[in-house]
Amino acid sequence: MVLVQQCNTYDEEIILKKVTELFTAHGGIEKFARPGVKVVIKPNIVSKKKPEEAATTHPSLVWAVCEVCRRNGAHVVVAESPGGMYEKALLKGQYRVSGIEDAAKRAGAELNYDLSVTEIDNTNAKNLKKLNVITPLAKADVIINIAKLKTHGMMVYTGAVKNMFGAIAGLEKAEYHFNMSEYSDFADCIIDIHQSVKPDLNILDAVVGMHKDGPTAGEPIEIGAILSGCDAYEVDMVGMDIINCNPSRVPIFRQAFERQLVCADVGGIDVQGDQIKCPKFVVKYNDEMKRLHYVDGILGKFLTKIMKPRPVFHKNKCRGCGECVRSCPAKVIRLDENKKAVVDLGGCIRCFCCQELCPFIAVEIKKPLINKIVVRKRK
Ligand code: SF4
Ligand code: SF4
Repeated sequence: MVLVQQCNTYDEEIILKKVTELFTAHGGIEKFARPGVKVVIKPNIVSKKKPEEAATTHPSLVWAVCEVCRRNGAHVVVAESPGGMYEKALLKGQYRVSGIEDAAKRAGAELNYDLSVTEIDNTNAKNLKKLNVITPLAKADVIINIAKLKTHGMMVYTGAVKNMFGAIAGLEKAEYHFNMSEYSDFADCIIDIHQSVKPDLNILDAVVGMHKDGPTAGEPIEIGAILSGCDAYEVDMVGMDIINCNPSRVPIFRQAFERQLVCADVGGIDVQGDQIKCPKFVVKYNDEMKRLHYVDGILGKFLTKIMKPRPVFHKNKCRGCGECVRSCPAKVIRLDENKKAVVDLGGCIRCFCCQELCPFIAVEIKKPLINKIVVRKRK
């Protein structure tokens, strides 16, 4: 069952009420939090962003979930491995700027600084039968996933399922990107990771989401909803329905349908609560080439290569911080003599980590003109 609650504010009293109601709807708080139980909360702290930028889970929601679980006697830990390096000093800054440090402290929850990973068996995986995940998630009794509804340059949409990619420590994420540069392979990898640390409850922060150039460079947009459910795929299906995003054009969901992990028709999901739609939400798809009938063969491969969206680095915005250089899985970015980022597109795998992790919004994903002309003609 997916519960949709209308909510147009991050006022803590109202959020606390909504969170209390949602626990009741999903079987009662005792099912998730009680004395002797270690509850690990996994927010989305993609990078060092303020709450009003709408790139991270809002701290009010994190506070309310921690508060309700702690009041019920559980030991509550907030754990995340954001993009980039996984280091205590960076983590501290990310917790602080996102407002989640203050939220966790006020609710009596612990912030995770254990940087170790634990190997786990993942028998139901398609590819990742064994993998290393951050230790608090591996050792949790209960995992509560609090994701943010956003667009995503590579994966089109990010919500509950994609949020569990943060179970992978720091730059190991870049290795996954590099080894699985085909979008369908990377989507299967995200699904495998999600299956390995399957949350007991998924809450989707869609009070304010991010559209256009998410997950960090887009625009905040009021959606006015909190979604929750024990099945992350179902929660995302309902989330995509609200923003009018076609799940069959979202790589994770194309693969999830193929693997029969969720019903491809949102009508087949038990949805309760309020009816919400956000018609102004802009989703940027990236599969136009696959939809052209001539993509097979040598000509198709050539056209796909020259027409693929690509990262464009804006020199006037680049501050030479080097974050993209450190995070690029393909190692094709360098700083030039003027300390400006430059890319060798020949080796670029179009993962768009550079766009996601640039703190100064200096990287844009652009479709070449030829793409726009041909795709417009063929639509
Ligand atoms: S493009 Fe962004 S991340 Fe890369 S060096 Fe410039 S400012 Fe830093
Ligand atoms: S340049 Fe950007 S899009 Fe290309 S591989 Fe590096 S991080 Fe990914």
